[in-house]
Amino acid sequence: MCDDIGIDKQRITRDNLLATDGFGWADALLCRRKVTAVRSKARWINRNVRFTAVNALVPEKSAVEALKRADLIVGCVNNLNARADLQEIAWRYCIPYVDIGLGLYPLDPNHDMSEIAAISGNVFTAIPGGPCLWCTGFLTDEKLQMEAGGSDHSYLRSSLGERTKPGPGVHVASFNGVLASLAASDVLQLILDYSPGVSVRRQYDGFSGTVQEVVVEKNLSCPKCASILGAGDPLWQ
Ligand SMILES: [Zn+2]
Repeated sequence: MCDDIGIDKQRITRDNLLATDGFGWADALLCRRKVTAVRSKARWINRNVRFTAVNALVPEKSAVEALKRADLIVGCVNNLNARADLQEIAWRYCIPYVDIGLGLYPLDPNHDMSEIAAISGNVFTAIPGGPCLWCTGFLTDEKLQMEAGGSDHSYLRSSLGERTKPGPGVHVASFNGVLASLAASDVLQLILDYSPGVSVRRQYDGFSGTVQEVVVEKNLSCPKCASILGAGDPLWQ
């Protein structure tokens, strides 16, 4: 029996069809919840899958409770603050965390139809006890504050998707698919125990279609590794 958990609070819109081939036109027409559509698809592929659909945002209680019982977390979020939340939950409960994300960088960020200057993605698997996203400098307080633009978390979550989504007609499903495949390979390596001993972050260049490996090391003075690794239940405020 395969036991999967899907966590997302959004419903499917036509824009989502450009980002993944996991949804169809009928999903967008019916405005289905993303987790409901994924559950249907998972069961269609393998009827022995037990899929728990959690219609919530991290760090809402139901989402955190679902994550706490996971053997492995895969984060596919589009902002750094959400990554920081997932990294913290993974570290508190000593769960491996596979982080993937894609960024499109327009020449003119203020123009919807601007040419794309770069398409880049990241894949990083954080194993408790090894380097985390803070160790590598991928997450810093300054970056989180800059991303939030001085707003609090709740504002960020409701508006960031709108501010960072690609402009009309930008198809990113193929790029996302590369990152998703790399993440799936990492998950299999962890489950089947044939993962390499060296921690690497993989950097994907969508234009050239290449993936570069960057060796990362644990930062012995990382404040997050020192304070939250294995700390268990937090006091969410
Ligand atoms: Zn760290």
